[in-house]
Amino acid sequence: TYSTYGRIDGPIVIIGFGSIGKGTLPLIERHFDYDASKLTVIEPDPAQATFLRQHQVRHLAERLTPENYREVLGGLFSEGKGFCVNLSVDTSSLDIMRFMRELGVLYIDTVVEPWAGYYFGTSDNADRTNYALRQKVRDEKAAHPGGTTAVSCCGANPGMVSWFVKEALLTLAKDLGNPVEAPQDREGWAKLMQSLGVKGVHIAERDTQARRVPRPRNVFVNTWSVEGFIAEGFQPAELGWGTHETWFPENGYRHETGCMAGIWMDRPGAITRVHTWCPTPGPQFGFIVTHNEAISISDYYTVGPAAEPDFRPTCHYAYHPCDDAILSLHEMFGSGRQQTKHHILTEDEIVEGIDELGVLLYGHDKNALWYGSRLSNDEARDLAPFQNATGLQVTSAVLAGMVWALENPQAGIVETDEMDHARCLEVQRPYLGPVEAHYTDWTPLQDRWDQFPEDIDESDPWQFRNVLAS
Ligand code: NAD
Repeated sequence: TYSTYGRIDGPIVIIGFGSIGKGTLPLIERHFDYDASKLTVIEPDPAQATFLRQHQVRHLAERLTPENYREVLGGLFSEGKGFCVNLSVDTSSLDIMRFMRELGVLYIDTVVEPWAGYYFGTSDNADRTNYALRQKVRDEKAAHPGGTTAVSCCGANPGMVSWFVKEALLTLAKDLGNPVEAPQDREGWAKLMQSLGVKGVHIAERDTQARRVPRPRNVFVNTWSVEGFIAEGFQPAELGWGTHETWFPENGYRHETGCMAGIWMDRPGAITRVHTWCPTPGPQFGFIVTHNEAISISDYYTVGPAAEPDFRPTCHYAYHPCDDAILSLHEMFGSGRQQTKHHILTEDEIVEGIDELGVLLYGHDKNALWYGSRLSNDEARDLAPFQNATGLQVTSAVLAGMVWALENPQAGIVETDEMDHARCLEVQRPYLGPVEAHYTDWTPLQDRWDQFPEDIDESDPWQFRNVLAS
């Protein structure tokens, strides 16, 4: 038997029925009480029609646009209550969130997504950053505090990893001999991180899921949205910029306005490599693909004024996607062309592998602590239908965020850093496989190729200068 986390009154609308939408539906069915005749999926791709019909789910085969979204969603939510679950690409999170809050409808998404065309429509790289996308949502929150809850960026990452950072901090405090109670506010958490000597955080991920057949040439293969990954991979590399950094990248830029927590580099994230560490491979290369959490975590854990903080951690994604995605990236950037054929590996064709996704807190007295989920595809298949391990880490975070929103319906616009991490992980944990803490003495100064001199700082192992691969 599964826990029921409460009743959702009014309509539920899922926007987008790709790998994440399809995996979220069974968790909503399993864990909430609601009127099934009022659940609608908005999905323009006709390929999903049969599945939805067979599962007796109302399907609106419509593509949301800036022109039609008010009419389409306004019609579905005419009662002024319910839950909007935005899991599509190419729809503006900000516009839809704003409209839902006007109507009094709960809202959740897994990324600050812009309308179609944004990612490739401008050559101004500063405008194409996640910093810019996130800041608009933060500005909306500041201009309209409180009100109906809208949860921004509540997937695995961004999302769950912010809850892991808090759990990792409590674990580290205990293991350093000074156990603490969970702080009650942002300042408390930021000061805890500072007092523990943490210099920064990698969102350190290794996806080893693989199928039996080799990747066909000219097909982009991934374990979640290919479109989403290509879009973010072509955005500039981006990171939260910590106060311990003594060096600055030559192609790096700061921002003049907003939270000031991040910088960007004039280079696509998906070809910018960093040295990082995960339990299964040990040391590995990851890509510094831009993500909302890189900025939000550095912002949340800032102590002191935004422009001249006393403490701020460096934070960025360090992503080793599945091997087929690595080959797909290599082919795409090498040829200068996006593959027109896309494929998301399904739970049934994957024959081995896990998605190991955690946070690596570094620079403290125990050097580095990785804390995260090591969910295998085999286990994911046993836990919930229609998704691989990557999908389940995301959809179970959506579930947790929905539960939190139902329990806190007037919390305004929130990011996952601002939610009750213990409650959210309590809901999510049954779907995460082994959730483990691993210490390592690895630093980015290890495992270099001594024959070739590099621009590194041997006096301070955890400088970003050492993390960034040449
Ligand atoms: P997907 O590519 O499998 O599916 C996206 C779906 O959206 C497609 O079915 C597509 O037809 C539909 N869609 C496209 N344009 C639309 C429009 N204008 N209106 C309505 N629907 C539209 O993607 P996915 O793997 O399911 O991912 C969905 C979203 O979740 C993406 O934005 C992705 O970046 C995000 N995501 C977040 C995390 C996280 O951990 N935070 C992880 C994975 C995916």
